[in-house]
Amino acid sequence: MSAVVRHMLAQQMVDDRGLFIAERFGPTFQGEGPSLGRQALFIRLSHCNLSCGQGPGARWACDTPYTWDFAAYDPQDPEVRRRESVEDLVTWALSLPPKLVVLTGGEPLVQRPGLERLAGALHEAGREIEVETNGTLIPSPELVEAVTGFNVSPKLAAAGGREVMRIVPPALESFASCGKARFKFVATGPEECKGIAELVERFAMDEVWVMPEGTSADTVRAGLRDLAEEVLARGWNLSPRLHVELWGDERGR
Ligand code: SF4
Repeated sequence: MSAVVRHMLAQQMVDDRGLFIAERFGPTFQGEGPSLGRQALFIRLSHCNLSCGQGPGARWACDTPYTWDFAAYDPQDPEVRRRESVEDLVTWALSLPPKLVVLTGGEPLVQRPGLERLAGALHEAGREIEVETNGTLIPSPELVEAVTGFNVSPKLAAAGGREVMRIVPPALESFASCGKARFKFVATGPEECKGIAELVERFAMDEVWVMPEGTSADTVRAGLRDLAEEVLARGWNLSPRLHVELWGDERGR
């Protein structure tokens, strides 16, 4: 099933019964990007409009395929996908101490109406909210208002697939101009920094993080060493993957 068809089906399935999620977990640490090391709760939404690792030219694979690859994972299995109401998710988040709630995926904006309700309710309750997104879908003003920050992770050619699906100019322009976006790129090596720099300049991205790919501590550490000099020279920030360092690719950490 193509990414476009999967996206359309996911949109049709969003209704008032709540959001499709793969998992929720925490307290744990935010493992990447500007809030690295902060205590946080995670709500991981199902569905994605991309399929990183499966297209031509892919050099790394999605680390959460259970959120969208329903040829390999059964979406009827509640360990893979289940529906939870906004009220239940908010009640869970407010029952635990962390002030930061990370709404991730998959691609959370695929379920935009429910995501807006969830982010709005958590914001009203005084929680800080980060939304992790691939930057291909335009956020509504309501969502921009509710979130503390968007961690936008545009996908480079090494993710595979067609550029027209990965890089959507109106969406990236919308994030870059909203005042709440931090851009986080997964890179397989310093040679990818030229492509990152082109996007940074084209879309006037002013807060940039680069992160190695990898689901083992050794791979991530080697990637950090490989990227460090180039990232430093370009004036960007470098992010480890703390959860991988601590727990490898264990799910729900
Ligand atoms: S955008 Fe993210 S969740 Fe979607 S396929 Fe790519 S890496 Fe996986």
